Amino acid sequence: RPRVGVLALQGDVREHLAMLARLGADAAPVRRPDELAGVDGLVLPGGESSVIDKLARAFGMQHPIRSAIADGMPVYGTCAGLILLADRITGAIDGQETFGGLDAVVARNAFGGQTESFETDLEIDGFVGGPVHAAFIRAPIVSSVGERAKAIGALPDGRIVAVEQGNLLGTAFHPEVSGETRFHERFLAKVRARR
Ligand code: GLN
Repeated sequence: RPRVGVLALQGDVREHLAMLARLGADAAPVRRPDELAGVDGLVLPGGESSVIDKLARAFGMQHPIRSAIADGMPVYGTCAGLILLADRITGAIDGQETFGGLDAVVARNAFGGQTESFETDLEIDGFVGGPVHAAFIRAPIVSSVGERAKAIGALPDGRIVAVEQGNLLGTAFHPEVSGETRFHERFLAKVRARR
């Protein structure tokens, strides 16, 4: 069974743990560097990216996570987690930093007003079994992808909301909330392939 962690500083940690367990993974919350060292893959949950960033620095987790990403550990970020994976972000608050690794620019809180939260169906490159039902909650968008990253899903207007780059996977929406299993399966496949 793949041993995977969910960064458990803030956000929807429980939903990810439940999804990963349901898919047969040995899933545990990760708060400390020694806990990170014990897993073969990491999920960065949705929540508030500026808070997760602050806590990660306070808990001495920023550098260990950056090294794990550089070493090729599979990491999947949803929403705030996607923001934390991005090499560059716009709309950051309070000197907010990211772990980085994903060659993309991500814009925080890209949907204003009435459409701040919404659900829609999306086609994802490489997925079989029909569209993904996606829940967007004060979601970011990927405003541009660099040479190393690849857009794998976009809204009908072309805005990118799912990206992949080697062992990194990011979505602006929350499959762990809508019961969509295919992104977590893709993440777990990367973890198994690397072991
Ligand atoms: N708006 C949040 C942020 O900037 C992300 C929202 C979410 O994770 N659902 O971190």
